[in-house]
Amino acid sequence: RRGGNCAVVFTEGLRQAAAERLELEQDLHAALREGGRQFELHYQPVVRLDAADSLRSFEALLRWNHPTRGRIPPDAFIPLAEETGLIELLGDWVLEAALAQLADWWAGAGPGGGPQVAVNISPLQARRRGFAAHIGQRLRAHGLPAEALWLEVTERILADEAAAAVLAGIRALGVRVAVDDFGIGYSSLSYLHRLPADVIKLDRSFLPEDGGADDGGAEAFVAAVIRLVHTVGLSLIAEGVETEAQLALLRRAGCDAVQGYLLARPMPAQPAGALLRAGPAE
Ligand code: C2E
Ligand code: CA
Ligand code: CA
Ligand code: CA
Repeated sequence: RRGGNCAVVFTEGLRQAAAERLELEQDLHAALREGGRQFELHYQPVVRLDAADSLRSFEALLRWNHPTRGRIPPDAFIPLAEETGLIELLGDWVLEAALAQLADWWAGAGPGGGPQVAVNISPLQARRRGFAAHIGQRLRAHGLPAEALWLEVTERILADEAAAAVLAGIRALGVRVAVDDFGIGYSSLSYLHRLPADVIKLDRSFLPEDGGADDGGAEAFVAAVIRLVHTVGLSLIAEGVETEAQLALLRRAGCDAVQGYLLARPMPAQPAGALLRAGPAE
């Protein structure tokens, strides 16, 4: 197909990779057909840097417990699910599981209400006709207020007009939207002020590795990004905070909230609920 004067070497390695991909795709199909028992959501705390460092929200992260291969990380199957269109079914499962968990937490919560859970949404999912209405309908079905749910989208979605329009509909419901992995990929200062979003999640690659010694003005840079984000009326969550020095830097820089292994790793719903009931962390 590439023309007569082109030779393509087909190696055993390539064949294996293709076979493996196909197998994973079939397994993903099967897992979805059997109702998602192999999937599980873990919840990673997002801690607000206020006086009490309060824990009021989590990011839901998908885990696949494969029957023979054990746990497969999302980076190893979400891209495949996106390429094959399976992400629509998978995304439905994630949304439904997160809302069911939220409903449970809100049912046991005091007058202040329950926590917020942020759900990752892929562009293909958001582009679906009626997606905003679907979200509204599922919130009502679970008896949840719109404020309980956040959606995380990557900047890729903004390149897609249909998906971007859906975001507007979702925000009109009162569901907040966060732009994930900000600063890598499509970021452009030119559209920061008109992002259809409420929150920016700063990618962890922006944090200096130890956060201690000021390596090349990293702190000044992060502080400037945060000021810029605040200027356009958005708030900022820093991802991947692993050290005390990074946390201290983010506090000085006026960061709104943080997420990362230093505070807590993603965990199953039960310990997440216990953490919530335990109140503010020390
Ligand atoms: P993401 O949305 O950027 O999620 C944050 C990732 O960073 C998670 O990886 C989380 O476990 C990890 N992380 C959190 N704190 C730290 C830290 O301090 N240091 C380091 N090195 N990593 C940290 P995870 O759970 O493996 O998820 C990977 C990606 O898979 C996510 O990146 C997201 O893009 C995607 N993903 C996960 N769940 C879903 C889902 O339900 N739907 C969709 N569409 N994508 C999902
Ligand atoms: Ca995310
Ligand atoms: Ca991210
Ligand atoms: Ca990511």
